[in-house]
Amino acid sequence: MLRTLFPFPGGVKPEPHKEASAKAPIASAPLPERLVLPLRQSAGVAPLPVVRVGDRVKKGQVIAAAEQWVSASLHAPTSGKVADIGHYPLAHPSGLAAPAIVIEADGRDEWRERQPLDWQKLAPQAVRQYLQQSGVVGLGGAVFPSHVKLDANAQIEELIINGAECEPYITCDDRLMRECAAEIVSGAALLRDLTGARQTLFAIENNKPEAIRALRGAISEQHEDFIVITLPTRYPAGSLRQLVYALTGKHAPFNVLPTALGVQCFNVATVQSVWRAVAHGEPVVRRVVTVSGNVRAPKNWEAPIGMSMDALLQLSEPLSDTDGLIVGGPMMGLSLPLTDAPITKGSNCLIARSPRLFPPRPPESPCIRCTACAQACPQGLQPFELYWWSRARDFAKAADYALAECVECGCCAYVCPASIPLVHYFRFAKGELAAAAREQKMADSARSRFEFRQFRAEREKAEKAEKLAKAAAAQAAKQAETATTPLATTQDATMKSDPDHA
Ligand code: SF4
Ligand code: SF4
Repeated sequence: MLRTLFPFPGGVKPEPHKEASAKAPIASAPLPERLVLPLRQSAGVAPLPVVRVGDRVKKGQVIAAAEQWVSASLHAPTSGKVADIGHYPLAHPSGLAAPAIVIEADGRDEWRERQPLDWQKLAPQAVRQYLQQSGVVGLGGAVFPSHVKLDANAQIEELIINGAECEPYITCDDRLMRECAAEIVSGAALLRDLTGARQTLFAIENNKPEAIRALRGAISEQHEDFIVITLPTRYPAGSLRQLVYALTGKHAPFNVLPTALGVQCFNVATVQSVWRAVAHGEPVVRRVVTVSGNVRAPKNWEAPIGMSMDALLQLSEPLSDTDGLIVGGPMMGLSLPLTDAPITKGSNCLIARSPRLFPPRPPESPCIRCTACAQACPQGLQPFELYWWSRARDFAKAADYALAECVECGCCAYVCPASIPLVHYFRFAKGELAAAAREQKMADSARSRFEFRQFRAEREKAEKAEKLAKAAAAQAAKQAETATTPLATTQDATMKSDPDHA
C-alpha cells in the first residue's frame, strides 16, 4: 500500500559505516565470570534489591523489584552467587559510581522456571504488570519502561514499530530484524491488541533491504495487516518526533507525548523482548550490542546485561591504536575513555575510537552566521541564536527561542564550519534552566511552607483568643450568676423571716 510520507525539515546524511558490522550474524558473547548490574537501568525510579550478598540466584530470577509504577524489575542474567551490593562506575563521562548488584557466575547458566503467559485470558493491566516485572524497557536507548506506554485509556490510532536505526555504525536492530522477524511481528501483534491501535506501521530506513524483506515475509506468514514503510536514509529519521511526523503528519511539541496525539512507538528490539517475556517467560537479561569502529571483527553480540564493556570490546579485537569508546552512535552517543563499566539495557553500540577514525575536532572559532545549522535542524530551530544566548548565559532568552524543543540530535554541530560544539552549549543551558526551575520550585515551596506556618500560627492565635474570650465570658456569666443568686436567697430569707410575710 502506498502511503504519504511527511518529510521533516533539515537532517543530515553522515557516512553510514554500517556494512562492516551488519554482514555477520549476531554472535552470542561467552558468559563472563562476573556481572555488574546497576540498579538504575531504566527511566524512572530504580528498583530495590531483593537479594543479599551470598544469596544463590538462578538466571532470570528477580534481584531488584520495581516498587513504583515508572520503574522496571532487574533480573540475574545467569545463575551464580550475589558477590556484592555496592557502588560501581557507570559508562558516563562523570565516571561516577552508582548502586549495583554483582553476580559471580557459576558457569551453569541455569534458568529459573519459565512459563509462557496466557495473556489473552488476562486483563490488559495484568499484562502491563507482568511486563514491568519482566524488566521490559525501551531498548532503542531511551529505556523508558514499556508497560507505562501501554495505557489502556489512551486512544491509539497508530502503533509505530521503529526499525529506522538512523545513527551511523549501529546495526543491532538491522540484524535483529533479519534474524528474528517472526518474533518481532508476534510482539507487534500483542502490542497492537494491548493498545487497541487501528494501524500498525513498521518504519525502516531504505538502506536495510534484507530487514525489510524479512519483516514483510513474517507479516505475510502471520496474516497480519501491518504496513512496512521504507524511509529515506536521513539522520535523525528514527528520532521519536521526526518519525511520528514522517509517518502521521502529527507534530508533537516537547511537552506533549505522542500518546496524546493517538500514536505509540516501540523500538524493534523492545518489541522482540516483549514477545520473549510473554511467550517464553524470559525477562530482559541479554541484549544485542553492535561493536564496531576501530576493531578487526566488527559484529553484533548478544551479551548478558552487566558484562564489562571492555570484555565485549575485546571479543571484536580492537586495534592497537584504540584510544577510547563511543557508547551509542557517533551523533548522540557518549565519548569515554576505555572502560570496564557494564553493558546495561540501554547500551546498543560500542564504537572503538582511534585518532584516525575520529580525528580531534578543529578548535572552535567564531560563528560566521552562515545559517547552515538552521538548515540542518530537524526541529526547525535557529541553533545559532540558541548558541548566542546560551554563550551569553541569557538562558531565559534561549528558552524564548524554544531551547526545550532541541532533541540534541547533533545535526547542527555536524554541519557547523566553525566547529562549535553546539549541543554542549544547549545541554549546558538546559541544565542551568532546569537548576533554576528546581531552585524556583524549592523557593516556592519554602514560601508556601512559611505562609502556611504563618497562617497556622495566626489561626491558632485567633482560636486561642476566641477560647480565652469564651472562657472570660463564661467566667463573667458565672460571676454574674453567683452575684445574683445570693441576693435572691437573702431576699427570700428576709421575706421568710419577716413576720408580715407569714
Ligand atoms: S553553522 Fe556554525 S557558524 Fe554557521 S551559523 Fe550555525 S553556529 Fe554559526
Ligand atoms: S541539536 Fe537541537 S538545535 Fe541542533 S539540530 Fe538538533 S534539534 Fe536542532
